[in-house]
Amino acid sequence: MSRKYRVGILGATGTVGQRFIQLLEGHPQFEVAALAASDRSKGKAYSEACAWRLPGEMPEAVRGLKVEAPEPPLDCEIVFSSLPGDIARETEESFARAGYAVISNSSALRMDEDVPLLIPEVNHEHLAQLDTQKSARGLDRGMIVTNPNCSTIMLVLALAPLHARFGIESCVATTLQALSGAGYPGVASLDAVDNVIPYIGSEEEKIESETLKILGRFEDGRVQDAPFKVSAQVHRVNVSDGHMAAVRVKLAREASVEEVREAFASFTSLPQELRLHTAPARPIVVRDEPDRPQPRLDRDAGRGMSVTVGRILPDKVLDYRFVALSHNTVRGAAGAAILNAELLVATGRL
Ligand code: NAP
Repeated sequence: MSRKYRVGILGATGTVGQRFIQLLEGHPQFEVAALAASDRSKGKAYSEACAWRLPGEMPEAVRGLKVEAPEPPLDCEIVFSSLPGDIARETEESFARAGYAVISNSSALRMDEDVPLLIPEVNHEHLAQLDTQKSARGLDRGMIVTNPNCSTIMLVLALAPLHARFGIESCVATTLQALSGAGYPGVASLDAVDNVIPYIGSEEEKIESETLKILGRFEDGRVQDAPFKVSAQVHRVNVSDGHMAAVRVKLAREASVEEVREAFASFTSLPQELRLHTAPARPIVVRDEPDRPQPRLDRDAGRGMSVTVGRILPDKVLDYRFVALSHNTVRGAAGAAILNAELLVATGRL
């Protein structure tokens, strides 16, 4: 077996950071070697700095690691970042300049023209942006690759097979997003219980812009946005994990409901071909029961990496409607970043 890459996690004590540690336990290619978080945690052993909130025990291998400041040097080659958006840009750029491969969850650099906003099943060809990035930023070995917002990932994975087969002319998406999407402690319990909050800062804008970048074409050294409009409305609901979206699409060419279902159900791509460790066998799981998907029943499909699609029906205003669901801290965050890193290794970019 080939050697293991040493990885560091920035924001290691947070909701996404803990998910990274859980998913990387026993990973065949990556070994957690460095952890970083805020001044609150710096200098402490991870077991002391982190209130572990996932089921099961904190992995033994990280308990004694000392939490460091999120700045180079760290004893690793790859840095997974789950830092808050406001500090991510400067920190991630400094790691890339220092020669690290930065695989980020944060929103700060996602829309930069030279930064791949990657879903390996959808736009792996956008990795060519790394060539422009290298010269534009004067990077030597360092690089920056981002994964999309947690709701965007779910929406785009569902739209990708429809866009490829029939073309999408417009899309309207209404999300119902889990509490863990706001990190820890997140939304106060008195705001969450018995309630729905129709606002998540900048989320609608992120879904609308990121979707078009990811589904855009890489031409003449840059990504041209996909030529359709997306309208998104978001809501925070009283669910622990698992984002949902009610989606309506207008297609460029006519398709039967069977063809639409088949496009979802048969969708596979490069990560499945390459048998990447974190890639689910089926990126989209179709459920035909009238009352699925549901967060509690479907968020762990494909070990949290599959998007579940159900309620596929003709729509009287646009052409089709469906409901999508995925695990926001696995496919929507840590699992997405790990899959990105696996693709970089498999394609020889790391
Ligand atoms: P979180 O639970 O609040 O965790 C934040 C982490 O960042 C903690 O490790 C915290 O360390 C660290 N941190 C905070 N301020 C810092 C500072 N000034 N310097 C260094 N480290 C600092 O948040 P989260 O939900 O994990 O989200 C992290 C990032 O991932 C955000 O950018 C978020 O938008 C993105 N994201 C989240 C999700 C999700 O479902 N939660 C999905 C996709 C993307 P301490 O413990 O030391 O304070």
